[in-house]
Amino acid sequence: NDDVKSDYDVIVVGGGPGGSTVAGLVAMDGHHVLLLEKETFPRYQIGESLLPATVHGVCALLGVRDEIERAGFVRKRGGTFRWGSNREPWTFSFAASERMAGPTSYAYQVERGQFDTILLDNAKRLGADVRQGHRVVGTVRNDDRVAGVRYVDDRGGEHIARARFVVDASGHGSRLHRDVDGEREYSPHFRNLALFGYFEGGHRMPAPNSGNILCAAFPDGWFWYIPLSDTLTSVGAVVRHSAAARVRGDLDAAYAGLIADCPLVAELLADASRATEPPYDELRVRKDYSYDRTALWCPGMVLVGDAACFIDPVFSSGVHLATYSGLLAARSINSALAGELPEERAFTEFELRYRREFTLFHDFLVAFYETSTDEQGYFTAASKLTGRAGTDPDAGFVDLVGGVSSTDFSRRLTGEVLAEGARLQVRGLLGEAAGAEPPLFPGGLVPSPDGRRWLMPGV
Ligand code: FAD
Repeated sequence: NDDVKSDYDVIVVGGGPGGSTVAGLVAMDGHHVLLLEKETFPRYQIGESLLPATVHGVCALLGVRDEIERAGFVRKRGGTFRWGSNREPWTFSFAASERMAGPTSYAYQVERGQFDTILLDNAKRLGADVRQGHRVVGTVRNDDRVAGVRYVDDRGGEHIARARFVVDASGHGSRLHRDVDGEREYSPHFRNLALFGYFEGGHRMPAPNSGNILCAAFPDGWFWYIPLSDTLTSVGAVVRHSAAARVRGDLDAAYAGLIADCPLVAELLADASRATEPPYDELRVRKDYSYDRTALWCPGMVLVGDAACFIDPVFSSGVHLATYSGLLAARSINSALAGELPEERAFTEFELRYRREFTLFHDFLVAFYETSTDEQGYFTAASKLTGRAGTDPDAGFVDLVGGVSSTDFSRRLTGEVLAEGARLQVRGLLGEAAGAEPPLFPGGLVPSPDGRRWLMPGV
């Protein structure tokens, strides 16, 4: 039957990693989910460098990890940086962290069209009613609750669908997020813009770092250099606000000029040429992408991924925050739909956990940009934030950039909180045998053994 029903338990707006994660995990719990995606996949998206917690934690909970493993993505052991006052590139590997050493100490560099399609197809396989080419144009309310959406289908027909919960996972361009009280607040720290494109034939760093992301600073900003296959490379310039005028007019000339300012990247591209096949044949610009929000849910509606917040590309936190917030939202929705927790209790846990993860990355990235010192300085800053000062300086840094740390560095529970993402990975690998987790906050909730709901601790 091709008709979209008009009543669901949950409607998810947007089929990126955030939306597919919520839809899959809520459908797995037996609820009726409608996912409306305006594009037809595979569609282009930026955000190609992943963190291990996404691959081994959330993707494992979704039952899609093996498929991701088989997809042939470039394996990412860590990151290589030419940053700060140190002229020489330096490298970290996820395996250097005691929490991540072993089978989960890597992530992938992904072509997002392919990666996002795997996740969206998986949500459908798990039971979500996935509709592509369906654009949501607004929410509908019932008294003080969001109670559904208005959408335009793939033939131009206008409809209303209702649900107990609406999830806005429609990314940075979201308009729906305004239906949650509060404001999107743009960061005073990150006012950069990005100009990015693709090359065929770029050189690789020597093994074992050939699959790493390279972040290379130059006077007006920094470049990412992400190997997407043996031959395809994603190359993006993040240009500081004060130099934004360089990205005007002829973008090809601007791009070439920026690359020429960054000798490390220019050398790697010496024998390369710009990609000519869609979607990689064009240059793209993004700006105003660093923001947070004063409220992340309201009765009947929750925001995940870029619809809620995004920091900066430098540590590959975007897809991690999108999938992590998708997981948190799914737990809250599943618990509320099962009648096990009042909505407010369930979503307060969602918001607290989401904010602390965002804050940890945000505050470290501020320090990372502002500290003009060598890598030792960054390691120290990360160790302080992750509550591990005085231990192996590498460990704090690696935990942070691995997406395994949910630390609120100002809280006394940092030692415990630090283990959050690592436990997610362990849960992904071991399933229910991973055992019970402690709460992250006094009086807070804990994940159920299957990882898809919240429980009161000790119950
Ligand atoms: P999206 O991936 O944006 O998905 C949202 C979906 O919603 C889209 O498919 C869209 O078509 C759909 N949609 C929108 N409006 C509607 C509507 N009205 N109705 C129905 N559907 C709708 N992250 C990383 O992890 N690693 C990186 O290396 C990285 N690099 C980045 C570089 C730059 C310059 C920028 C700006 C970001 C980068 N990111 C990176 C961040 C990453 O792009 C995002 O965080 C991530 O894509 C967010 O996922 P999402 O599911 O929230 O949203």
